[in-house]
Amino acid sequence: MDTNFGFLQFEREDDPIVPAEERLKSFQEFHRPLCDEERRNQAARCMHCGVPFCQSAITLKGMTTGCPLHNLIPEWNEQLFNGNDEYALRRLLKTNPFPEFTSRVCPALCEKACLNGIDSKPTTVHDNEFFIIENGFKNGWVTARIPEERTGKKVAIIGSGPSGLSAADFLNQRGHKVDVFEREDHPGGLLMYGIPNMKLDKSVVKRRLKLMEEEGIRFYTNVEAGRDVSKEELENRYNAIVLATGSTVPRSLSGISDEIQGVYYAVDFLKQTTKNLLEGRPFTIDAKDQDVVIVGGGDTGNDCTGTVLREGCRSVTALEMMPKPPAERTADNPWPEWPKVLKTDYGQLEAIERFGKDPRQFCTTISSIETEDGAIKSVTTVQLGPDRKPVEGSEKTIPCTLLLIAAGFVGVPSSLVEAFELPLTARNVIETEDDSHKVRDGLFACGDCRRGQSLVVWGLMEGRKCAQEVDASLMGYSNIE
Ligand SMILES: Cc1cc2nc3c(=O)[nH]c(=O)nc-3n(C[C@H](O)[C@H](O)[C@H](O)COP(=O)(O)OP(=O)(O)OC[C@H]3O[C@@H](n4cnc5c(N)ncnc54)[C@H](O)[C@@H]3O)c2cc1C
Repeated sequence: MDTNFGFLQFEREDDPIVPAEERLKSFQEFHRPLCDEERRNQAARCMHCGVPFCQSAITLKGMTTGCPLHNLIPEWNEQLFNGNDEYALRRLLKTNPFPEFTSRVCPALCEKACLNGIDSKPTTVHDNEFFIIENGFKNGWVTARIPEERTGKKVAIIGSGPSGLSAADFLNQRGHKVDVFEREDHPGGLLMYGIPNMKLDKSVVKRRLKLMEEEGIRFYTNVEAGRDVSKEELENRYNAIVLATGSTVPRSLSGISDEIQGVYYAVDFLKQTTKNLLEGRPFTIDAKDQDVVIVGGGDTGNDCTGTVLREGCRSVTALEMMPKPPAERTADNPWPEWPKVLKTDYGQLEAIERFGKDPRQFCTTISSIETEDGAIKSVTTVQLGPDRKPVEGSEKTIPCTLLLIAAGFVGVPSSLVEAFELPLTARNVIETEDDSHKVRDGLFACGDCRRGQSLVVWGLMEGRKCAQEVDASLMGYSNIE
């Protein structure tokens, strides 16, 4: 690094964000880039550590810290500081097939492990990555890479979320013929129909899919493997099959049916919002003037909060069973462990701005719901004590005309299990051999359907590792790194 001790010269500066009341008027992304000079200063804050924890992905006390993709962060920070933007891009793309996704939605495991974070603020790795990839697109450096040679082998990928796209990309670049089957009307998995527009604009997903098509990958949408195309048909047509179908079964709430009018699973709600926005139609499930209760105060609950606010809800409350985490790291949770601290995300900040209070109620759950003419009208909540048991007399009834269940996912559907005769783990996800991605000869699995509900960055990593194993099985060795 040319500048010595940039971390002593420059304060951390995040990409500016559009103020809450302004951004609530639309579903557009709301981060604005720093000017180029300030961006390079931010890159100079990288300490170029001898042992860069940011790219390590080490597991400490059961949680990963550092980038699962092992992104070469200090290298591209240095190139960014020195103005070698195209080279910085090449180093970024060496490990990460789709930085335009991670630089928008990743919770930045790298920054949690950045050495600057011990006693100061971490380097803006996430925003630096965003600059490098978007600058690459702007300058025409990200173009279709059409493989020069083909191997004659054919691979079917089932599911087109981050893990399926990553596996497809690596296998296609290796020269195999790759077909992707997706049951939805558009590829992208949760990148398309889960993560809301304001975090990841759908034009960004479409831009990547277009490149992949130009590179030779074929996407077949509205095709559900196991129903519209059987395991046997796929086995006959392809040399290998990769299941990348996600962990799509939502966790239900005992005694509460989504058949009741006004009760929906979070992903169904978010999906229809995106679909209707894309097609310029009114929302099928409209939060306008509704009293919304969201069960789940995590990331999906936050996305629901940001969405219902944009639709003009009357009130929003998010119920979280877990206790409120501390604001700062505690002594038994030091750097570089994953920080178990309170995260107040964009949707929650927007709710604070609009209604003057955090929508989350911690240590709280639903004890019952009340309906009128078949539609939900209120919910009764109850507090949970330290033993996680309901505290007697703590019940409260609050108005609720729209209940969104964002309580996580419980693995893969039985229809897929039956169709592909899949072995399952105790967590209802696909069991693979000895920590590999192989289910049995010719059949592989990657992403959330194998590791359970996770993150985009893990999906990309799973896709890459799985592609290596598929390649080795087809060719006898693999040169996918
Ligand atoms: C609302 C929400 C917000 C999130 N926000 C973030 C975030 O900000 N940052 C982050 O890192 N992670 C986030 N996540 C998690 C992240 O999206 C997932 O971990 C990731 O998408 C998993 O990738 P995947 O490829 O394994 O599965 P998915 O993205 O779930 O894709 C699986 C695909 O397979 C298709 N499919 C399933 N069965 C079949 C079949 N039989 N035939 C054909 N197709 C099939 C599905 O339709 C789907 O398109 C979020 C998750 C949710 C639900």
